[in-house]
Amino acid sequence: MKFLLALLLLVVTQSFSFAQKDEAVVIMIDPGHGGSDPGHESVNKNHLPEKELNLIIAKKVGDYLSTKVDNVTIIYTRTTDIYLSLDQRVELANSKKVDFFISIHCNGNPDTKINGTETHVHSMSSKKSVKLAREIEKDFRTKAGRKSRGVKDTDDREHTLQVLKFTEMTSVLVECGFLTNPKEAAYLNTTSGQDIIASAIYRGIKNYLKTENGSQTAEKPVAAKENPKEKPAEEGSWTVQIMSSKEWMDTEKGNFKQLSQPVKREQVAQTGYKYIYYSGNFTSVEAAKKYRDEVKKNGFTDAIVVQKK
Ligand SMILES: [Zn+2]
Repeated sequence: MKFLLALLLLVVTQSFSFAQKDEAVVIMIDPGHGGSDPGHESVNKNHLPEKELNLIIAKKVGDYLSTKVDNVTIIYTRTTDIYLSLDQRVELANSKKVDFFISIHCNGNPDTKINGTETHVHSMSSKKSVKLAREIEKDFRTKAGRKSRGVKDTDDREHTLQVLKFTEMTSVLVECGFLTNPKEAAYLNTTSGQDIIASAIYRGIKNYLKTENGSQTAEKPVAAKENPKEKPAEEGSWTVQIMSSKEWMDTEKGNFKQLSQPVKREQVAQTGYKYIYYSGNFTSVEAAKKYRDEVKKNGFTDAIVVQKK
């Protein structure tokens, strides 16, 4: 169906004779690790391991791209929790002759203070990859409000990354944040955090396509508004994430009842700390911080301010 739609769109665009290429732009999204390889573990043992976060974020990026940008085809290296070697990932990308390869990872470091996003390329001389990486980091910094550690190449990290070195197309590896940093790990384990990260990656790719591919990949005008992170800070765009739990908890009971604002529970996963509790609705981050302090005083010491979806 999608193929048919893409074909139809091509017929339409060709009548204006600016399609330079007869196929859609093909983007391979590679959720890092999987199966027996969990990737980095969070400082909080009850958080999801890197492999699961990578998959969640990767699917969100793919969904955004396929629903909001015309004429793109999304292929994943994996959509379930399976193990794939680095060679297999490279082989998949090269054999399918995709236009872009985007690998999604979360970082780790023995120093738990280190936090922020990074986008990796093989070499600073790979102009297109560097440009794409810069677009993604720019969105992390400006729209998602994350700390960007910038674009890194082989020299910066002092080792090569196989999926970047051997893939024959524009390729980047995105590190969405450090699971070894308690605050960032908590953020990456929230649905809103995952949404914000995914939409920044999506927007970076979209902006790159806009300038590099021009009319070939037009943004879908109506759907673009649905992107939550493109909304300006409007009424009630901030909330306080109170805590997460493995078990279902009654939001009308216990310490929740002491809070001045109602508490909302959201299920974010099937296992582990699957429920997250939010409270409050604020127009400014300052107001949300004030309320967070109240929440903390009521015994929820891990409470943080988050942007609503
Ligand atoms: Zn990784």
